[in-house]
Amino acid sequence: MSKGFPTVGIIGAGQLARMSVAPAAALGINLILFAESPQDSAAQICQHVVGDYKNLNQLKSFAEKCDVLTFEHELVPLSVIKGLEAAGVCVYPTSTSFEFSQDKAAMRKRLTSFPGPKSEVISDASAVSEFPVVAKKISGGYDGRGVWKIKSEDELVEVLKSNPTLLVEELINFDYEVAVMVARSPHGQATSWAPTQTIQEEGICTSTITPAPIFGDELSERAQALALEIAQEVGLIGVMAVEMFVKGDELYVNELAMRAHNSGHWTIEGSKTSQFEQHLRAILDLPLGDTSLVASHAVMGNILGGEKTDMYRPYLHLMARNPELKFHQYMKEVRPGRKIGHVNIIGENLLELTQIVQHARDYMSGEIDE
Ligand code: ADP
Repeated sequence: MSKGFPTVGIIGAGQLARMSVAPAAALGINLILFAESPQDSAAQICQHVVGDYKNLNQLKSFAEKCDVLTFEHELVPLSVIKGLEAAGVCVYPTSTSFEFSQDKAAMRKRLTSFPGPKSEVISDASAVSEFPVVAKKISGGYDGRGVWKIKSEDELVEVLKSNPTLLVEELINFDYEVAVMVARSPHGQATSWAPTQTIQEEGICTSTITPAPIFGDELSERAQALALEIAQEVGLIGVMAVEMFVKGDELYVNELAMRAHNSGHWTIEGSKTSQFEQHLRAILDLPLGDTSLVASHAVMGNILGGEKTDMYRPYLHLMARNPELKFHQYMKEVRPGRKIGHVNIIGENLLELTQIVQHARDYMSGEIDE
């Protein structure tokens, strides 16, 4: 190995780690993963050790092989991250900021000076006097699992039975959902990408459009400035998605995800610097890359598991039909509704791009056969 090139360790070996492999290889950065199983998406293609991410001692010995540690999911217990820091391990994002990605109640408390829905932590349904509200698991929820729209006290009582403490938020009747990806490095350099409109179905993001077509320049700049201020406020190191609701020209912060994020997958082909490369640059305190778009529009479509189990055969038809479409397979077992890959396309005609992506999504999941 050449002198001077660092080793980055990623805790987790899912698709986000998988998509970090190509930029790490290009930069000459040595990547090693802490996987749950050798079959994990990224473990199939990258050197790794297998272990339990809740086990501090195992992670400490993993850290000995690395110059910097980072993670691709929110499940690593905060106590373990603090334990690594106490042992002198360089972990990014740090425990003080990562808490706001793991704990929605802590995030709301910290971001009270930023625009967001009114919220409170409750363990008794009678504490809520007005309905409807949105109730959320304080940590561990994803893809809308752990979020409930609650119309009455009885419904809240029901949810509290299995979740004794909940974050309850004002329900925002938003027009759109957007996310702004930002990156920040230890020396404080920060960048943002153009805001992305995220389209969700039943709590799962199905596609994204960048730049968010509903945004004019003013709102776009405001959303990016807001995300950058939050990055500074929480001392972010690495990349982060700031999810927001848009109602009229008001922005409301929904949540923070301190890692590469689905709403930034478009950057792989759509931006001069992808979120995965930028994360590596940020945690290594390298100068950050150019985040401009390389075309007028970038559309991403998630491929959700459906009837088809062979995800290779559809390439024949789709690549012939739309040579400009780019495929990203996560090499995960196909299960109904599971995110198993995504497609990206960039270009000038937004309507055409969204139609191509929709067609590819439907074809890959088996909803249509031509
Ligand atoms: P997850 O961590 O599962 O992604 P989120 O907190 O992002 O959960 O919520 C999932 C979805 O629920 C959001 O994308 C949005 O559609 C809806 N939602 C969440 N909070 C609110 C709210 N306060 N008002 C209206 N809708 C909400």
